Formats: sequence, C-alpha cells, structure tokens
Amino acid sequence: MERHHDDVIRTVQDRDVRFIRLWFCDVVGTLKSVAISPADLETAFTEGIGIDGSAIEGLTRSYESDMLLRPDPATFQTLPWRGEVSGTGRMMCDVLTPDGDPASSDPRRVLREVMGRAEAQGLEYFTHPEIEFYLFDEPWKQGRPLRPIDSAGYFDHVHHAGGQDFRRTVISYLESMNIQVEYSHHENGPGQNEIDLRYADALTTADNILTFRTVVKEVALSMGQVASFMPKPMFDRPGNGMHTHLSLFSHGKNVFHEPGAEYGLSRTARQFIAGLLRHASEYAVLTNQFVNSYKRIWGAQEAPSFICWGHNNRSALVRVPFHKPTKTTSSRVEFRGLDSAANPYLAFAALLGAGMKGIEEEYELPEGAEDTVWELTDRERRAMGIEPLPTDLFRALESFEESELMAEILGEQVFEYILRNKHDEWHTYRSQVTGVELETTFGRI
Ligand code: GLU
Ligand code: MG
Ligand code: MG
Repeated sequence: MERHHDDVIRTVQDRDVRFIRLWFCDVVGTLKSVAISPADLETAFTEGIGIDGSAIEGLTRSYESDMLLRPDPATFQTLPWRGEVSGTGRMMCDVLTPDGDPASSDPRRVLREVMGRAEAQGLEYFTHPEIEFYLFDEPWKQGRPLRPIDSAGYFDHVHHAGGQDFRRTVISYLESMNIQVEYSHHENGPGQNEIDLRYADALTTADNILTFRTVVKEVALSMGQVASFMPKPMFDRPGNGMHTHLSLFSHGKNVFHEPGAEYGLSRTARQFIAGLLRHASEYAVLTNQFVNSYKRIWGAQEAPSFICWGHNNRSALVRVPFHKPTKTTSSRVEFRGLDSAANPYLAFAALLGAGMKGIEEEYELPEGAEDTVWELTDRERRAMGIEPLPTDLFRALESFEESELMAEILGEQVFEYILRNKHDEWHTYRSQVTGVELETTFGRI
C-alpha cells in the first residue's frame, strides 16, 4: 500500500512522533540511521537530506563524500520499542548523489535495477526468508566460551523460558510494523531460533530483514540477552542459515509452477534453478560474505556444501519442496545457501540475476541429486557433475573476480569495493596465528 508524503506528515502529527529515523545500509548490509525532526520531513521528501557518506563502508569514493537520503514514504512505521507516546518513526531511504541521481553504491539501487529488468519481461520477484539466529547470555568476550540461553533443540517447546517470550515479543513488534511472520520455532542449536517472514516482493523483504535484525537485537537487549546472526558462532553447533524461497510471478501467477509437469516445475523454473547452480561460485561472496560464512557451509549440520538441487535433499544448495503452491504460497524454490549475515539487497539481486541468466540463455537443468550428497565420495560426486561450493572466502573471491555477470549486476563501484574489502578481510584472517596452530604445532617440533 503506497502512502504519500502528506499521509506520513499527517501520521507524524497525529501520533506526536518527535523523531524520524532515516534508515539505509552500507555495502556490507549494516543498518545506518540518521534522525530528523518532523519539521524536516517535507524537505526530506522533496530534496533529500544531506549526509557525509565518506565514513560509510563502500558508499562513496573519496572524491564524493556528500550524499542525499530520500525516504520512501511507503515504508513509514513507528518503532514499537520506543514507546507509544511521543514516538519515533522510521523510513527506509534511497541514497542519491548530490545531483539527485540514484547512487550507484546504494544496495537498494542494485536490487531495484535487477528487479526492474525482470519487470520489463513481465516478471515480479518474491522472496520469503527463514531467518536463523542465536540468543546468548552475554556478549562475546575474548577467552570466554559463548553461552547460549538454553539447551533446547529443533522445535522444542521451551517452558516459559526466554526463547518463547522472546519470539512472542519480536513477532508482535514486527506485526505492529506491518511485517508479517509466517512461522517461528526453536532451531537445532541450543539458544537457536528461527523466524520466517511472510513472502513479499524482494525489495520489501530486504527492507524487512534489516528491520528484523534490529528488532531481534533490541528485544534481546531488553531481556538481558544478546542476539547474533553470525553465520557460525560455535564450531560444533549448527550455523545460522537464511534459507530463502524464491519465486517469479507474472500477472499474479507463479511462473515456476506447471501443473502436471515433473515435480510441478515449469520450464522457466528449471532454467532459473540451472542459472542459480551455474553461477553459485560467482555469487557466493554475496550470499556468504564473511570468512566465517564458509565455516557454516563446510561445517555440515544441514548447511549445503555442494552445488546441486533436490527434493528431500537437505544438503543440496537448492531444494524444491513437494507441497503445492496456493495463491498465498510463493514457495517453489528454496535456496539454502544464504546465511543470516548477508546483505539481503545484494544477495537477492545476485540470485535473481543468476536465475534470469538461466532463463535468457535457456540453461539445461542437470539431474536432481536425491542422495545425501555428503555421503558420496569425491569421485562419485564428480561422476555426477556435482561441484563443491567455494571452501573459503578466498576461493569465493577468485570466482567473483572473474564473473562478468556479477560485475554487471552490481555495477563497477560496488563490485570493486567488495573485491577490495573482502580481500582485506581475508588477509587479516590469514595472517593470524590461531589457537589451533599453537595447540597442534607449538610443542611438537
Ligand atoms: N541451520 C542450518 C543451516 O545452516 C539449517 C537448518 C534447517 O534445515 O532449517 O543452513
Ligand atoms: Mg531452519
Ligand atoms: Mg528451510
């Protein structure tokens, strides 16, 4: 539902909102916020609000530090944890150059553009994320093991304990901000939870994910806990995945579904999945952006390590659930590679771009892999044409660097920034002498 500027201004007056936070994110996907007063709203809508972007990851080049934020009125909501009276509102923003053009470095711009290309072919892109995260008793401190808030497991009912109250509060906050929740449950790891957002167009979903992470962190803090979306916080426990169901609609119809076809998959869906598989190593840096992301991918515990698709195959990168789509279900293709720490704008853009490439070039979908791919030998996997995902950030960067498709989807500025930033992260990591090395080598020679 589109709200106009006047509606926002009226709501701000009616609800006595004193501050309006303008939200946007950097290339990594970290939420950034600038507060303005109601008196500045009109200007914000018409001209934009100037910010100095020079200190923000990837947003500007050194010679262009001034940027404008233009709020999207359709995203106006009040923040439920800031109190009902004299509240605080927020809007997601587009980042513009001083001339008023979309900033090429704005992750929202990247996603909008790829979606625009699909729309030109009559296709609307919807996503539905299952977001996993951990709750801990206290922040991480050097030398102290992390302490999850409970020791429950998958779908466990936790008696009046932190987890349930926690999810209840998170969900009511989200719903008051017009973010609908589909399911929530305790996940496999101790203190690990999952909350699934209802499907929406991918831009709205990406906005919702940023809000979601903030709400989860706020609620955790208010309960004396700490929430983490880190891909693999504990080496011997499951990681935080963000499986996302992807679908394309045309005139209100799910074009991935074809009644009577094998597994109900249309030709378009098969080509789209083929695109996701063929370009998986190229976009891994976007779906799995940290050194730590690859510890999840290669740490088993139901995270996918191999580039294949299947039905009941939870080790596959792409799973096609059996259940039939209804009008309200967008769930046809479950992409299991994403982790909860991704920048959702860039990750969704890359997945759409890869899938669309499959459609445009009519890629052939390889055979599905129904076995648990983990149980096969390397030789068996190779014989089936199943490649591994990159084993670490460095290998992911090698594939990314070679990818014309990624350069085209992201635009030169974001592409170059990611290369630089992620190579730095890799070098910092690689230069460390770790506890494991000391433990295994120090006294040995
Ligand atoms: N935590 C698992 C992952 O890292 C997923 C568990 C599940 O199947 O929901 O992807
Ligand atoms: Mg899960
Ligand atoms: Mg799932």
